[in-house]
Amino acid sequence: MSANDEPSIFTRIVAREVPADVVFENDRIIAFRDIAPKAPLHLLVVPKTEAYRNVTELAAGDPALLAELVATAQQLADEHSDGEFRLVFNTGPSAGQTVFHVHAHLLGGQLSEGTLGH
Ligand code: 5GP
Repeated sequence: MSANDEPSIFTRIVAREVPADVVFENDRIIAFRDIAPKAPLHLLVVPKTEAYRNVTELAAGDPALLAELVATAQQLADEHSDGEFRLVFNTGPSAGQTVFHVHAHLLGGQLSEGTLGH
């Protein structure tokens, strides 16, 4: 649960309470298309647990899950693009984080400098 005890939007996607274009799922990770894409390929790669609010917490709490998330990103970039990608973890509101359930933005295709901050 998040701080206000409401399930995060991503937990609601995992539960299929909110529709999403899901491209990958296993027991620990889900990936789906960002609703407001900023690149030709823009997926969100998300641990199903919302125990970790950001990548720093995930790295400290479950480094194997972070490694699995990175490997999943590579697999998805191979499948959906040319295997090259940018992985962005916005961490904190001033960095643009709006959903406090850790997630990676997987950006691929032809990226411009403008997509650095996603
Ligand atoms: P953040 O700003 O926290 O790094 O990233 C949150 C991302 O989640 C944003 O890029 C936003 O477009 C995406 N997002 C927010 N709500 C939804 C939703 O309901 N469905 C999908 N597919 N993406 C969402």
